[in-house]
Amino acid sequence: MKVAIIGAGAAGMFAAGLISRKGHEVVVFDTNEKCGKKLFITGKGRCNFTNVCDRETFLSNIVRGDKFFQSALAKFSPQDCVQFFEDQGVRTKVERGNRAFPASDKSSDIIKALERFMDGAKVVLNHKVKRIFKSGEHFDVDGQKFDRVIVATGGKSYSATGSDGDGYNFARRFGHGIVDLKPALVPIEVDEKFVSELQGLSLKNVRLTAITKQKSFSEFGEMLFTDKGISGPIALTLSSLINRLDCQFLQLDFKPALSEDVLEKRLLREFESAKNKNLATVMATLLPKRLIKVFLNSLSLDGGKKINSILLQERKTLLKGLKCWTLKYKMLYPINSGIVTSGGVDLKQIDPKNMQSKLVDGLYFIGEVLDIDALTGGFNLQIAFSTAFAASLDF
Ligand SMILES: Cc1cc2nc3c(=O)[nH]c(=O)nc-3n(C[C@H](O)[C@H](O)[C@H](O)COP(=O)(O)OP(=O)(O)OC[C@H]3O[C@@H](n4cnc5c(N)ncnc54)[C@H](O)[C@@H]3O)c2cc1C
Repeated sequence: MKVAIIGAGAAGMFAAGLISRKGHEVVVFDTNEKCGKKLFITGKGRCNFTNVCDRETFLSNIVRGDKFFQSALAKFSPQDCVQFFEDQGVRTKVERGNRAFPASDKSSDIIKALERFMDGAKVVLNHKVKRIFKSGEHFDVDGQKFDRVIVATGGKSYSATGSDGDGYNFARRFGHGIVDLKPALVPIEVDEKFVSELQGLSLKNVRLTAITKQKSFSEFGEMLFTDKGISGPIALTLSSLINRLDCQFLQLDFKPALSEDVLEKRLLREFESAKNKNLATVMATLLPKRLIKVFLNSLSLDGGKKINSILLQERKTLLKGLKCWTLKYKMLYPINSGIVTSGGVDLKQIDPKNMQSKLVDGLYFIGEVLDIDALTGGFNLQIAFSTAFAASLDF
């Protein structure tokens, strides 16, 4: 059988190896001059290629498409994925939160292993596929004839890596529905001018809550201020949870481990021992220095005011600010800045057993082009590998 795979990313490369090893003639096309361009930048160049948690935890980290994905996950699990790379000669390690990486911390080792694995496939680089159509039993891919086609074109984010959304157009031309594309795992822009002054400042052990008209979501951990808003692990997670809702505010709890009562007592203690100091000086025991001026200004509090002249109302404002600092939500950063794209090929029209289109025989969709996305931690690459594996079982 002659098989075309469009896209030499994580999903396409793995599928190419699996299918060519079954004796089929496989041709992989990619726009880029090399394979795995996005893989190269994953995990800050270290490639967090899977997450070796249990099945339930894995599924709970999927934002969209968890039910659909169950079957593919059962066929090729995170543990299978680690074993696969070990078998290919990549030593692996597991870090905090069950995140698996190559022991070398080099994503290029994962790419090289996949390249070796698919050495039986023909790879056509610098070829951006323009047209796929079916006539009779065969597919035509830019003038070449194939028996089956696998679309592994990825999402629409970080388009410089080659994934610029072509797969959605191919799917549409075959009659497939595309679930609205939204940015996911992306920074959040806020409607507060002062954030630009905080750019680069990171906060640990804080709680960030996104208040949408429908629901609130809270995450505890680390975040970072950007030029226009916030990023870092907890902001990225929230972006994926709210990207289809009407978000209004973000609230930051700087002291999530302390109840309001306990924090008030601490504040009183600090004030008691520094009656003649000014407010900004005392705040340095509670917040990072860089934040203090912006924080106090946002609450209309005077940092130069002596502690012994702080009014009860001002202390209450301060306390509220520390537990619940409100930032007006503006929007998510654009799709291109997202770690992944939410939305994609409608799962209702895809067979979860083998990723084959229910509309067109012999047409398959794998990886991020599908309407499946997950949180950070290696889940998205596992989705690419498991869906590729499920498709390969049909060959
Ligand atoms: C900065 C960053 C860091 C990330 N880190 C992690 C991480 O550590 N762990 C994790 O699990 N996930 C991570 N992800 C997400 C993960 O990289 C993707 O979910 C995954 O690569 C999707 O695999 P894929 O094979 O479906 O698509 P891709 O890897 O995007 O591959 C698609 C390929 O298709 C090619 N293509 C597209 N259109 C055409 C066409 N018309 N003709 C020919 N070729 C075409 C593209 O050139 C591309 O090479 C990260 C993403 C980014 C942007």
